[in-house]
Amino acid sequence: MQTDDVLSWVCQYCGEENSLWVDLTIMEDQDFIEDCEICCRPNRVLITHDKENEEYIFVDARLTDE
Ligand SMILES: [Zn+2]
Repeated sequence: MQTDDVLSWVCQYCGEENSLWVDLTIMEDQDFIEDCEICCRPNRVLITHDKENEEYIFVDARLTDE
């Protein structure tokens, strides 16, 4: 079974794509702050876990100052 994966998210400040290692053994939605690799500004990254298919299906990034 796959235990980790690389997902991508787009920085909401500069629009650049970032890569993110995700631990697939955590069977819950994840919500944390990740700094952009390009502009170093913090984005709030949300990973939604699909409980029916037991996989992560959606990654969303938001401004942290909203
Ligand atoms: Zn950025």
